[in-house]
Amino acid sequence: MSDTEDLEKITSIYSTLYPYQKEKLLSDLENCMILNNASRSYCIKVCPKCGSKTPNWTRGGRANSGKQMLVCHSCNHRTVVDYGQLTYYSQQDRSKWDQLIKDTFQQVPIQKTAESLGISTYTVWRMRMKLLHALEAIANETVVSDEVEMDEKYLLNSHKGEKRDEIKPRHRGEKASKRGLSSEQVCLLTAVQRQGDAVLKATNMASPKSEDIEKIQKNLSGNCLVWIDGKTAYQRILNQKNCEFRVLGDHKTYTSVDHLNNVNSFHSKIDEWNRKYRGVATKYINRYAALLVTIRKYAGLAADEVLLKVRTMLNNVSDFFRICDMKTSDLFAY
Ligand SMILES: [Zn+2]
Repeated sequence: MSDTEDLEKITSIYSTLYPYQKEKLLSDLENCMILNNASRSYCIKVCPKCGSKTPNWTRGGRANSGKQMLVCHSCNHRTVVDYGQLTYYSQQDRSKWDQLIKDTFQQVPIQKTAESLGISTYTVWRMRMKLLHALEAIANETVVSDEVEMDEKYLLNSHKGEKRDEIKPRHRGEKASKRGLSSEQVCLLTAVQRQGDAVLKATNMASPKSEDIEKIQKNLSGNCLVWIDGKTAYQRILNQKNCEFRVLGDHKTYTSVDHLNNVNSFHSKIDEWNRKYRGVATKYINRYAALLVTIRKYAGLAADEVLLKVRTMLNNVSDFFRICDMKTSDLFAY
């Protein structure tokens, strides 16, 4: 159907609506417009040269790439308009980045994205890493509060994609060689706010100690009500944060209030995603963890809406990550 036909149909239906329906429709339209505008409006919040946090930018010609240049009033530094965004330092245009974001959130394999975009799988992999790095910067600032469920998720250590002579490759589906929680298990600490965001971070191998849990303490607000299982390692940090906590036994002791259902269901999702990805190299685990909390946050939305939400999120950060910095940046060390 053409836009004109759509509009005619909408007009004829609109006249038959009740006032509350008209109001709802208009408010939905307005929300669409707000989201569209937010997903497009990026401004550089800190001048990369002089560090001014209230930079005043004016247009200053075009770069060789054709991108608009901006000039900082305080220091006269010229920078491109997409400084710190995904397209910055990238030869791929906005539309390719949009497709990359959609495919990453829908777990489309890198090879397929490369085919549909007509670029190499290596370039797509680099683009995905740049996206995940930006998501990680956002995830690191996430704070959960009020009612929080905490638990750990364990994933088998993976050297996927790496050639290591000293390590015998483990075939898919093969179990860890040691029984129980061994040093082959990556521990992902998880804190899920009921009806809110989640924090997911690989902090150590095997069972976490108090000092491992400390690594996510900035992501937990003070004075929360927290549900945990019997692990005592959590208790020191929760006491420091002035959080009240309830210790739960197995599922049989769960009630409608005292349970770990939200964190458990997130963990089942992680198993599903991990199977689809066929495992993730452990050193990139926190990049993927950041993707998983974002997927969880926007679960149930249409692919295009997720794209607009993610673009809006990214507009609020200036991530200076370049692929060439990858080796020196903080990958998960073990
Ligand atoms: Zn400046």
